[in-house]
Amino acid sequence: MAGLDSLGDVRGRRVLVRSDLNVPLAAGSDGQSRVTDDGRVRASVPTIQELSDAGARVVVTAHLGRPEGEPDTRYSLAPVAERLGELLGRPVAFAHDTVGPAAHAAVEGLEDGDVAVLENVRFNPGETSKDDAERGAFADQLAQLVGPSGCFVSDGFGVVHRKQASVYDVALRLPHAMGQLVATELEVLRKLTVDPARPYVVVLGGSKVSDKLGVIDNLLGKSDRLLIGGGMVFTFLAAQGHEVGKSLLEEDQLETVRGYLERATESGVEIVLPTDIVVDTAFPSGEREPQPRVVPAGEIPADSLGLDIGPSSARAFAAEITDAKTVFWNGPMGVFETAAFAEGTRAVAQALTEVDGLSVVGGGDSAAAVRQLGFDEAAFGHISTGGGASLELLEGKELPGIAVLER
Ligand code: ADP
Ligand code: MG
Repeated sequence: MAGLDSLGDVRGRRVLVRSDLNVPLAAGSDGQSRVTDDGRVRASVPTIQELSDAGARVVVTAHLGRPEGEPDTRYSLAPVAERLGELLGRPVAFAHDTVGPAAHAAVEGLEDGDVAVLENVRFNPGETSKDDAERGAFADQLAQLVGPSGCFVSDGFGVVHRKQASVYDVALRLPHAMGQLVATELEVLRKLTVDPARPYVVVLGGSKVSDKLGVIDNLLGKSDRLLIGGGMVFTFLAAQGHEVGKSLLEEDQLETVRGYLERATESGVEIVLPTDIVVDTAFPSGEREPQPRVVPAGEIPADSLGLDIGPSSARAFAAEITDAKTVFWNGPMGVFETAAFAEGTRAVAQALTEVDGLSVVGGGDSAAAVRQLGFDEAAFGHISTGGGASLELLEGKELPGIAVLER
């Protein structure tokens, strides 16, 4: 599929780049918000840098959070643009609107090699509209910013599964190409679906089973072992007839999960569940010190909830992982945001760094966990920037933002 080279000479041309700059922010002591995890900003740099080095006038569009189609200062990209400038080592212009007068002024002020960032694309209702005409009208406005010699580069891997104006509709209106990040992500994820080296182990966690049903369904036929942790594990334990106390439980998925357990046995795929669980009587909050207790997975007390996989399970999971030639991990094993419930996630992450083969981390929170726990990102084969997009690729779905680039 066409990479940046396919655009020809970009010197002096305006290039609209859809990046994924959806990063967590927190207010500093001075009240200014700052980027707390810049992983996605760093992942966006190579494509922007390459275009800038080639003399393009780079116009970056991206979203942050879920504003409801109107400006909301909590979701401003201004602090992110600042971080991008630091990483690029050059000033980055910031437009306080997306397609309005400020955007036009910023774009007109660009010299060859300059970079501008437009305000949060989701401040505009057209971006995520289900109505093709409304989305199209907004895409027209985005396309007008780069003018008749302009072009579009799709590099926001985290959004390529979305049929949105800045991902899909602009590509119908401008000459287009795939950025480096999207190209790399596709290449790695393809290795997971086309003839992966075996044993192929998949580790799933996170909060909800229902988010990950499609991928479980698909991987049951492809992976050798499926290790399950995180909040979704309790629906599996309940499906096996265990009491799970106050743990996260999706009753409406019990039947589906029972079906998976049966299919796994029939197809020779091993589903590995934790044998011990770290519980507490309340979900962690600032108001009370955690009181973690380890109990057998089948004996979660009625007044407690499971918040991490236990130490024996963590060791068992780690052994399964280090033994594999291909590993895909999505979803933390516990509520890693609290240190008392982070050890399962740490053990899994550590094991991934020891894999002699391909290890891939997918999912926003999993990637954040890896960094928060102090792991060197280079120790992993690949850390995907896109949770939903990577899962949908593994499910074998066609992603609108990728399919449109082939036209
Ligand atoms: P990712 O973004 O990597 O795909 P998810 O969004 O599915 O991961 O899930 C991440 C969240 O799951 C984390 O915020 C974590 O605290 C939560 N989580 C993990 N284990 C549990 C649990 N046992 N109970 C409740 N929440 C959990
Ligand atoms: Mg998440």
